[in-house]
Amino acid sequence: MSNQNFVDHVRMFCRSGHGGRGSVHFYRDTFTQHGGPDGGDGGRGGHVVLRGNKQMWTLLHLKYRKHVHADDGDNGSKKRSSGKSGEDVFLDVPIGTVVRDDETGERIGEILSDGEELIIKQGGRGGQGNYHFKNAVNQAPQYAQPGEEGLEGWMVLELKVLADVGLVGFPNAGKSTLLSVVSAAKPEIANYAFTTLVPNLGVVQVRGHQSFIMADIPGIIEGAHQGKGLGHRFLRHIERNSILLFMIPADSGDYKKEYKILCNELLQYNPELMDKEKIVCISKSDMLDDELKKLIKKNMRGVPIHFFSAYSNEGILELKQLLWGALSVE
Ligand code: GDP
Ligand code: MG
Repeated sequence: MSNQNFVDHVRMFCRSGHGGRGSVHFYRDTFTQHGGPDGGDGGRGGHVVLRGNKQMWTLLHLKYRKHVHADDGDNGSKKRSSGKSGEDVFLDVPIGTVVRDDETGERIGEILSDGEELIIKQGGRGGQGNYHFKNAVNQAPQYAQPGEEGLEGWMVLELKVLADVGLVGFPNAGKSTLLSVVSAAKPEIANYAFTTLVPNLGVVQVRGHQSFIMADIPGIIEGAHQGKGLGHRFLRHIERNSILLFMIPADSGDYKKEYKILCNELLQYNPELMDKEKIVCISKSDMLDDELKKLIKKNMRGVPIHFFSAYSNEGILELKQLLWGALSVE
């Protein structure tokens, strides 16, 4: 597999802390033999919390973390002092992480913004100390609440790929190469189909703080929507990209036909995909001279196209600006 660093699915056993027990205690000092109840409350058990982190793009860092345990709360003690709460465990995750209960399949929630916190296993409440139970009838309660149990279970975290630009093209169209020249991502490049088996994400810097995310989606092949080939598994990633960059390589046999096939694949898979903004490019334009470019433009009649080459850098800056412009309109 070309990029094992892209992990978009992890399963882990999470356990929140038990609440501490309330204390049964009676006030006592040099002058008081039988003071009133003063047993303090138990501390809350630690939560297991997901926290959005916009610097993260995958769940790789959690791949080998199979067990997550938050601390238990401390027990209450005399003089109404409450036990310390168990420490919460924070799991930093990329924006777009969805969490489900693995046993019931229930969707617990989704992280949508940087710094957003979502408790996925609530810590147990601390028990109340005996001073809460003093009343007219019982001045010396021998009872305090036990702490509430923590919760545990297998959870599944899944990452939706939230790219701004999705690359759509047949294998060998030059998608991985483009991504490697416009961003810091370094996907494996090879001259055979299905080099890219998992989506690669790259952050594309336009200028200054202007940046967007580009996703290299594995090659769509004819019939991908019917589950043939490897394309189908990955088409779901495109659904969420807001702009589709169609790439037809300069050495394609028939540009117009290739474009139509790509459109048809998307349409068959999900008609809504065709409502997305599309930008059509001819990649590997270093293989073309002006004459050929004119011919291609003629051939693609009606569809505006942009030429670029990841090898010579021709049209790369313009492409970034074109994409940025299209994204900023929204
Ligand atoms: P992908 O399958 O769409 O990801 O395509 P790759 O990026 O792996 O590229 C497929 C082949 O095309 C590789 O052999 C690349 O070296 C070649 N290639 C990529 N970009 C260019 C380009 O701008 N010009 C030329 N001449 N070849 C390119
Ligand atoms: Mg590739």
